[in-house]
Amino acid sequence: MNLKLYNTLTRKKEIFKPINKNNVGMYVCGPTIYNYVHIGNLRAYTFADILKRYLKFKNYRVKEVMNLTDVDDKTIRDSQKQGKSLKEFTKEYEKGFLEDIKNMNIEMPEVMPTATEHIKEMVEIVKNLLKKKIAYKTNDGIYFSIKKFKKYGKLSKTKIKKLKAGASERMLKDEYDKDNVNDFALWKFYTKEDGDVFWDTEIGKGRPGWHIECSAMSMKYLGQSFDIHTGGTDLIFPHHENEIAQSEAHTGKKFVKYWLHNEWILVDGRKMSKSLGNFYNLRDIIEKDYSAMELRYFYLTKIYNQKLNFTWMGLKASKISYQRLKNIISTIKDDKKINKKYISEFEDAMEDNLNTPKALQVLWRLVRDEKAIGKLRTIKKIDEVFGLKLLETEEIKIPTDILEIVKEREVARAKKNWKKADALREVLKKEGYAVDDTDKGSVVGKL
Ligand code: AMP
Ligand code: ZN
Repeated sequence: MNLKLYNTLTRKKEIFKPINKNNVGMYVCGPTIYNYVHIGNLRAYTFADILKRYLKFKNYRVKEVMNLTDVDDKTIRDSQKQGKSLKEFTKEYEKGFLEDIKNMNIEMPEVMPTATEHIKEMVEIVKNLLKKKIAYKTNDGIYFSIKKFKKYGKLSKTKIKKLKAGASERMLKDEYDKDNVNDFALWKFYTKEDGDVFWDTEIGKGRPGWHIECSAMSMKYLGQSFDIHTGGTDLIFPHHENEIAQSEAHTGKKFVKYWLHNEWILVDGRKMSKSLGNFYNLRDIIEKDYSAMELRYFYLTKIYNQKLNFTWMGLKASKISYQRLKNIISTIKDDKKINKKYISEFEDAMEDNLNTPKALQVLWRLVRDEKAIGKLRTIKKIDEVFGLKLLETEEIKIPTDILEIVKEREVARAKKNWKKADALREVLKKEGYAVDDTDKGSVVGKL
């Protein structure tokens, strides 16, 4: 099998082949640090993490760059509202983000650049685009002329021609939608509203547009052409479309080979938003007695590029499955072997565009297969990709009266009294415990 990934650029699943032999360069559009990241953002970073871990599992050498957007319209607006300097304001959310990815067991990227430390690189690109007459100056900023880049729209399949009026308009804001396909701002000249946020540069006093930040930081660390770029589907237009335009116009080379986008997280079938009161971050999840690993398991129950509907019931189901899985695994003894058959089934699932729900089924089959050899080491290998900490055991305290019921049930089972065994399972369930029957006897865990 070959690893196949769905490339937004071609709208096809393609066989993955890195540009440079065994080395993979991947860029993950990181968070805008103006808030704690929510469970939608965490899905995006968990997906990128699974992708990276799988590439490493397949022995690729991966260099991952994830940026932190620490200057844009939103960070400036909200830092001013709180009367803080931009740095002071973003530092807090940067810290929060690092805590969150650690809790989610997301591997640290090899490079984590911030936009404010790469202004020089951005200015260089803008200078070159001005020289090439692809960019032009107005009184409020420097803009990219989308008409000058023939392939504009190739990622989002947006057509410029149809937008007669729009194409001659300019967009100063960082975020806008397809109805506003426009020349976009590479550099924004200073206005009073920017307060003390500005850089005095060769191209004028001001600050960068959001899109140029990612072009500058990705090419600096990964080169002018690299393998993978990820983000959520909302970033396809305009952010990634603009990244392609300005990077390729600047270098004359193909910017990125594979564009991968994760789908949206919905909450109770609706868009997550503060006004609907259905907006959650990791702190909210943990407050309700769920763990980061249970949330991670929940993410894996859907392929990354399908919509995932978050409900508390759904998270609860993941919690139960996850705890059961760990309980059973804690009873498995090491026989110092690897089970090639299950590894290969796991790979088959993952190679099909990272089909984690299918790969989870393979894991469950392995865990329940009484005859399989090499169970423990195979699970460990699989968990290098899942990152679910399946072999870490924490103390689970089971009260003695519960253990007595379990014992009684074991006796019933030994006597093949299934009716009684089932009834006792129900009793346990009512008390909040689940019991699984394994080749090593029954294993009890909290629901
Ligand atoms: P932002 O900080 O808004 O740029 O978002 C960071 C990342 O999270 C981007 O890749 C977004 O596409 C992604 N993202 C934002 N909201 C959601 C959501 N509800 N579901 C999945 N991904 C999301
Ligand atoms: Zn970006």
